Amino acid sequence: MLEAARHPKIHIISHAEVKSASGFIGNFKIIVEKKPRYIKETGPNACTGCGACRDVCPISYPNWFNQGFSPRKAIDLAFAQAVPTIYDINIDKCIKCYNCVDACDVNSIDFSQEPEEIELDIGLIIVATGWDIYTSDQYGYGEYKNVINQLELERLLAPNGPTGSHVIRPSDNKTPRRVVMIQCVGSRDCHHNAYCSAVCCLVAMKNAKLLKAEYPDIEVAICFIDIRAAGKDYEEYYRRARESGISFIKGKVARVEEDPITKNLQCLVEDMSGNRHLVLEADLVVLSSAAVPTRGTEKVSETLKLERGSDGFFREFHARLDPISTKVPGIFIAGFAQGPKAIEFSVSQGKGAAASAIQLLKKGEYVIELIRAVVDLDRCSKCGECIAICPYNAISFNSEGNIEVSDVACRGCGACAAICRSNSITLRYYRDIQFEEYIDALLAV
Ligand code: SF4
Ligand code: SF4
Ligand code: SF4
Repeated sequence: MLEAARHPKIHIISHAEVKSASGFIGNFKIIVEKKPRYIKETGPNACTGCGACRDVCPISYPNWFNQGFSPRKAIDLAFAQAVPTIYDINIDKCIKCYNCVDACDVNSIDFSQEPEEIELDIGLIIVATGWDIYTSDQYGYGEYKNVINQLELERLLAPNGPTGSHVIRPSDNKTPRRVVMIQCVGSRDCHHNAYCSAVCCLVAMKNAKLLKAEYPDIEVAICFIDIRAAGKDYEEYYRRARESGISFIKGKVARVEEDPITKNLQCLVEDMSGNRHLVLEADLVVLSSAAVPTRGTEKVSETLKLERGSDGFFREFHARLDPISTKVPGIFIAGFAQGPKAIEFSVSQGKGAAASAIQLLKKGEYVIELIRAVVDLDRCSKCGECIAICPYNAISFNSEGNIEVSDVACRGCGACAAICRSNSITLRYYRDIQFEEYIDALLAV
């Protein structure tokens, strides 16, 4: 990220949201709303990231980056390695005491900032929106303090995390001695998300190994349906995890119950290999919760007219043969935006998307097929139904009030031809008259 920030030809617009997009491959027009930080980013008064303002700010609230395990101030840096290293004010929390204004030696704080619209003319788009963790009240999450998820455990294990890598149980800040991890929470479950999240088995093993390394006497059990460790070196990693003393229990956890006094937990497990019921005592339960599309995915899909699959992730042009392109020419997807995958596949897809974009940019031209919708203006009633049905946003009313098809945006899907009641929109090379000729010829044989 730092390298990208330093690159003279990469312009990072942070704290921003894509509001609208129009145009087509080679000629997209994007409107980006840059939200106010209330802190200057450029010029002689640009924030230096010194942190003096944070020290004097009286307002604290749970730090989202540390999963709520530590506080952050109303004026703060998003997280330690944030790029750019510029603070921002959460205006909903700020009480306007102006302590920060007095503390800032470079006069960087500017409460008069307003949202700014930036218009960009661009040729190609790569969507890499990542993922969010699935949350539900399964297994007492949100109710029992000592039921956390893997992301929360990762923050506790992190050397730069809220506890400096000391794992605590949230109810009493004590180090847990018995940890139970539950796999496939909200994944591979038709009542939640039917798909496999692809990374949770390895994440659980990695966190379990870190726990064993930090606390050799800790007991860690992983309850799983089946371990999915496909990929280079992963089976070996699984073997090493088993050898390190982590217990792997093939079984579904039916429920978790909390002792209201000690806040310890009991996990009732259907042990499939032993065909029996087990009760596991735990100080801390860690859920390997599903990975789901990021919160803004629906909005991005509406803005860019990108299809989504039944799982909510962006739909690729072809799941096996072209997982990087989308049905909109000039828009590519990479990483979790397309679906759950391990890091190496996200890296490969990201490089693939960049290479696909470079190829087109270098070529400088885009060849379209001739199978495109054509409108007979004499027949068209201007009802607009074709505009509404076109999945590629290729049809619009032109300045004369007539229906117009963009040959570049149109993919020749035929949806408009099928819906047009006055038969005035047809596909070049697929006109009714051509098919009537075929049928006549076949019937004549
Ligand atoms: Fe914190 Fe707001 Fe006061 Fe600045 S003005 S110190 S951000 S509460
Ligand atoms: Fe330092 Fe001012 Fe930036 Fe706060 S706003 S980090 S005081 S330069
Ligand atoms: Fe014209 Fe047919 Fe489109 Fe209606 S659906 S606007 S009649 S081309």
